[in-house]
Amino acid sequence: MSDTPDTFAELTSKLATVAKSFHGRGWLLGTSGNLSAVVAREPLRLAMSPSGIDKGELTADQLLSIDENARIVSDHNGKPSDESLLHIRIVKDRNAGAVLHTHSVWNTILSDLYAPEGGVTIEGYEMLKGLQGVPTHEHSEWLPIIENSQDMPALAEVVGRTLNEHKAAHGFLLRRHGLYSWGETLAQAKRHIEILEFLLEAMGRTSLIKRQGVKYGRSNDPQ
Ligand SMILES: [Zn+2]
Repeated sequence: MSDTPDTFAELTSKLATVAKSFHGRGWLLGTSGNLSAVVAREPLRLAMSPSGIDKGELTADQLLSIDENARIVSDHNGKPSDESLLHIRIVKDRNAGAVLHTHSVWNTILSDLYAPEGGVTIEGYEMLKGLQGVPTHEHSEWLPIIENSQDMPALAEVVGRTLNEHKAAHGFLLRRHGLYSWGETLAQAKRHIEILEFLLEAMGRTSLIKRQGVKYGRSNDPQ
């Protein structure tokens, strides 16, 4: 592994690969979701997915380079994802190297189901150890839920406040919308999305089984 930061070309190629992989798992259907990675910090330059493109068909040359105001600085006619301002806020507040955002069925369902509590607690699962800095399954991860909005500057402010309030969080949900996670590197951000999607689906399926009245867990307990 080299310590040399990835170039724009390397990052866009990797982002396209991640997009295809996530699309194949049903997390970025119908042009939904978006992906970014930091190319440079001073001044800030992000490789950002364009708006309205099928993520299963996304190619490296379609990725845009944007500045800290979400303006395109590369030679493209495309439009950056509407949610670019959220990516920029996360990059700045978490010093992230990459930000990924998925619209899976399970993250959408749970973002609504747990909205009255303001977030989801995920605890006791082995898969939690895939989150950076989590050494044991005996970890309690709080995934905050933020009300959805189409006013991106206002939503970016709420995201900033939420990140500040929950400094240990590895991601957050937008209600009835989707999941955001990030990492120091693109590989770490991808891992975090995979872990959180797995855990949300596991929790969603578990509550479904419980609602169906099937006995769950500790099957040797007396009736
Ligand atoms: Zn979205």
